[in-house]
Amino acid sequence: MPKKSFDFIVIGAGTAGCIVAARLSETPSLRVLLVEAGGSDRSPIIRMPAAIPYAYQSRRLGWGYESGPEPQLFDRVIDEKRGRVFGGTSSINAMIYNRGNPLDFEGWASRGLPDWDFAHCLPYFRRMENFSGGADDWRGGDGPMRVSRCPAAHRLYDCFLRAGQQAGFDITPDHNGYRQEGLHIAQAFIGDGVRWTTAHGYLRNVKSRPNLTIWRNALVHRVVIRRGSAESVLVARAGKVARLVAKCVGLARACHQELVVLAQFFQHVGRADVVLIVVAHALASTSEPAAIAKSRHTSPSGGTNSGI
Ligand SMILES: Cc1cc2nc3c(=O)[nH]c(=O)nc-3n(C[C@H](O)[C@H](O)[C@H](O)COP(=O)(O)OP(=O)(O)OC[C@H]3O[C@@H](n4cnc5c(N)ncnc54)[C@H](O)[C@@H]3O)c2cc1C
Repeated sequence: MPKKSFDFIVIGAGTAGCIVAARLSETPSLRVLLVEAGGSDRSPIIRMPAAIPYAYQSRRLGWGYESGPEPQLFDRVIDEKRGRVFGGTSSINAMIYNRGNPLDFEGWASRGLPDWDFAHCLPYFRRMENFSGGADDWRGGDGPMRVSRCPAAHRLYDCFLRAGQQAGFDITPDHNGYRQEGLHIAQAFIGDGVRWTTAHGYLRNVKSRPNLTIWRNALVHRVVIRRGSAESVLVARAGKVARLVAKCVGLARACHQELVVLAQFFQHVGRADVVLIVVAHALASTSEPAAIAKSRHTSPSGGTNSGI
């Protein structure tokens, strides 16, 4: 089985994975691999915002998951959409841009995550955005992700807003700015009439970085865990399985190699199941044989997963 090593292996070129790979590979000395199960995102149904029903329902662009029979819904089975394509779910989603409520961030900070209060997170929101309404203390103006206010040109929109006001609700001029509460016109990840996925915003112009390797149509079967740390991954690509190791390379710098798992699905005997998000396992490089973790998870539809 071929074995390759990188400083960082990012699994899943989805909404988060594209950003992580782009930011990591800004450092030329780091070798970054981005692994995606799906294929290219070059498709008009992804690019055109109005084609969202086609993107959303496409079998080629999604994983095709369904819930099990839902007892509270008379056993109806519900679609569980997730993108299986470069850009991940940002390539098929509804594009709406709403920040979380600042009080939620304060709540997380008060429960032991001091760096997650809104004041800490605001610079990252601003850094990400290129807002059509322009930059101010709350909004970003030159980030990689284009955000625009939906045109809402029909006069009924105005009627809706005024009706809300008459019912006693305020209008907020920018719900992603100073004040979230209030009626507003939606904002979306759309720029120049094009869906702005994170693949488009963060990776389009940097794909050719020599230190960034991108594998599409490459399915991670397993994350191999040794002594509690993710040590390597098994990736199936072009009919072969490779074992990839995030490994310390270079003697002069600190060892900070990581496997970043931003994917959700791991294959198990014929079908993939279970939602698992494991972020940033620090790795130690070693040549000892790896034990493959055997933890099993049961999905709502009864399948199991043994990858993590
Ligand atoms: C129908 C729908 C509409 C939505 N609308 C909105 C909206 O309007 N606004 C909003 O903010 N949010 C919306 N969301 C939510 C938002 O899109 C997701 O929360 C977000 O995209 C999740 O990002 P992620 O990086 O965690 O996962 P994803 O973007 O799903 O990325 C995961 C990536 O990992 C890949 N992957 C998975 N398993 C493997 C594997 N084993 N090997 C290799 N690669 C793998 C997948 O193919 C995928 O590309 C919507 C979601 C859905 C389903």
